[in-house]
Amino acid sequence: MIEYKNVSKVFKGGKVAVDNVSLSFNKGEFVCFIGTSGSGKTTTMRMLNRMIEPSSGQILIDGVDIQSKDAVELRREIGYVIQNIGLMPHMTIRENIVLVPKLLKWPEEERNRIANKLIDLVELPREMLDRYPNQLSGGQQQRIGVVRALAADQDLILMDEPFGALDPITRESLQDLVKELQVKMGKTFVFVTHDMDEALKLANRILIMDEGKVVQFDTPENILENPANEFVENLLGEERLMQARQDETTVEQVMLKSAISITPEKSISQGIGLMREKRVDTLLVVDGSGVLKGYVDVEDINKNRKTATSMGDILNKEVFFVRKDTLLRDTMQRILKRGLKYVPVVDDDN
Ligand code: ADP
Ligand code: MG
Repeated sequence: MIEYKNVSKVFKGGKVAVDNVSLSFNKGEFVCFIGTSGSGKTTTMRMLNRMIEPSSGQILIDGVDIQSKDAVELRREIGYVIQNIGLMPHMTIRENIVLVPKLLKWPEEERNRIANKLIDLVELPREMLDRYPNQLSGGQQQRIGVVRALAADQDLILMDEPFGALDPITRESLQDLVKELQVKMGKTFVFVTHDMDEALKLANRILIMDEGKVVQFDTPENILENPANEFVENLLGEERLMQARQDETTVEQVMLKSAISITPEKSISQGIGLMREKRVDTLLVVDGSGVLKGYVDVEDINKNRKTATSMGDILNKEVFFVRKDTLLRDTMQRILKRGLKYVPVVDDDN
């Protein structure tokens, strides 16, 4: 178990990088630290292997205060990976993989055993171990870069934005790999990222930081369902926007995949039938130029049909019916706030 107790870090010059952080998580968890640049993620992580010493507070690993341990010894017990996982070009793949085990003076037999195990794990042939990085494809090299982090067999692995500089497709496949390795090998991961999409995908718990403080520390599901505040909502909103950008569609298209579109003239009468038939329960209102103007809960429409009709008439817009989904509605609220444009989607629900 890893425990931060009222941990703060004030750098020389008075910058409070980490402000009274308390949290704990268990062995085998995948914890992502997320927050904007400068929010204290790296500092919080580096205090865990004593690359940075806290100004106050305590960090315990399995109940032992890390201050009572030798810092060099501690760093051997903890894997640490920073951005840009490059392989050494003049070393074979095997030598690259066992770099840290060799520093730790593991016997050759042990080093070969781990190299075999890791190359098997990424499903590359063992004869590749004796090749040089430039004899492998870029993707293969990156996979080696990731498994190398596991070579010293430490139980706790720290990764600080390891995929920050990679293109989205490579990044995604390495995320899959890291997650798979973590599940297979049962190690504890602390993974810093500023990408909510990445955190949601990898973590079983996410620590959200802002200005050195913990904003929320919870499972991805709970964060999505109950963002602690507007800061978290915005992080989630950014994630939606990223997703939309990747798909080359609009945010609205992403969230309205299941929407049923109806022409303005027939909207209300047709809509009432559809609402019953398809158990739709939210109605979106879009004006003539495609800007989302609002949404109405179908319960309200049923109670007061006139409200919906007059809304439709007054604004002269298209009306879309969507199934209830709290997430979707949160996203809509954000879209309304940002005044983003809605691009109608074709009805593919019939
Ligand atoms: P993040 O990883 O979330 O981007 P950091 O933990 O690196 O944030 O930094 C948190 C804050 O502390 C930032 O304002 C940063 O400028 C400051 N900081 C980090 N390292 C130092 C240092 N060695 N000396 C002074 N200030 C620092
Ligand atoms: Mg950082």
